[in-house]
Amino acid sequence: MNSGASIGIDVGGTKCLGVILEGDHVVTEVRRPTPASPVAIIDTLEEIVHELGDLPTVGVGVPGLVTRQGVIRASPNLTAVADFDVAGMLAARLGHSVVVDNDATCAAVAEWRAGAARGHRDAVVVTLGTGIGGGLIVDDRVVRGTNGFAGEVGHMVIDPNGPVCPCGRRGCWERFASGSALGAMARAVVRAGGLSAITTLVDDGSDVRGEQVCELAARGDVEALDVVNEFAYWVALGLVSLTNMTDPSCIVIGGGLAASGDVFMDPVRHHFARLLYSPNLRPHPRLEIARFGELAGAVGAASLATLSRSA
Ligand SMILES: [Zn+2]
Repeated sequence: MNSGASIGIDVGGTKCLGVILEGDHVVTEVRRPTPASPVAIIDTLEEIVHELGDLPTVGVGVPGLVTRQGVIRASPNLTAVADFDVAGMLAARLGHSVVVDNDATCAAVAEWRAGAARGHRDAVVVTLGTGIGGGLIVDDRVVRGTNGFAGEVGHMVIDPNGPVCPCGRRGCWERFASGSALGAMARAVVRAGGLSAITTLVDDGSDVRGEQVCELAARGDVEALDVVNEFAYWVALGLVSLTNMTDPSCIVIGGGLAASGDVFMDPVRHHFARLLYSPNLRPHPRLEIARFGELAGAVGAASLATLSRSA
C-alpha cells in the first residue's frame, strides 16, 4: 500500500481536472467546469478535494503568472482574476497548506518525476497548445526564478516584426510554434490555393487546425508535409535557444501535435540537429513525446505537493 498518495488539480480555461496520484499512477479522476469568479473557483477546488477523499497533500496548477506564494498575478484565461490568492484561500477552507504553481510548470514536473524526462537532472518540457507552456528542470530542481515566473518560454521574442501576441508584444515564439500557429500557417496556405487535400478532413479549409495538418501529412500528402516541415523549423529554433540556455539532456514536447508522433517529431529532430550550436562537438539532448496528455498538469501538481511535503 502506497502511503504517499496525493491530490493534484489542474484549473483549465474550461474545466478543473482533479486526480489522486499514487506513486506514478493516477488512480482516480474528477472533472468539473471552471466557474468564472475567484470565490466560485475556490468552492470548486474544495469540492474536488472532498470528492477525492480529503487527502492532506494537495497541489493545484493554475494558468498565468503565479508567485512563489501561490498567488495568481495575471491570467490570460481567467479574465476576472488578478491578485488571486489561491493558496491562501484554499488553505483556509481545508485547514492545511496547499501547493499552487503555474500549470505548465506542473506539467513539466509530471514529465520529470514520472514521465518522459524521468531520471534526467536537466530537462526542458514544452507544451504546444493554444500558446506554448514551458518548464525548466536544472540540476534536478524546477527553475522558478525570483518571483516564480520562470519558464515563460512561449514569450521569447524570435521576430520583433512578427505577428502580435496576446502578451502585447510582437513575434513571440508561440506565434510561430504553438498548435494554433500551425493551424494559422495551414489556413494561410489554403487561402493561397494550396493544401487541396484538406477538404477530405474539413468541410471548409478556413477551419483547418494543426492536428489535421499532421493527420494529412501522416497520409503522405506532400503539401501537408511541407507545412509541417516549415512549422517544425520554428519549433526547433526555439528549442535550440532553450538548449543554449540550460543544456538539457532531454527535451519533452507535449500538446495535441506531439500525439501525432513521428510525422511531427522527425522534422523537429532534423531541424534541431541542424540548428544546434556546434552539433558535431556535443551529445544531443533526446527529443521525446510527453507521456501525460491532458492529465499532465494535475499529475505534476500532485507531485509538487508530495515533493514539498518531503522537503
Ligand atoms: Zn508573447
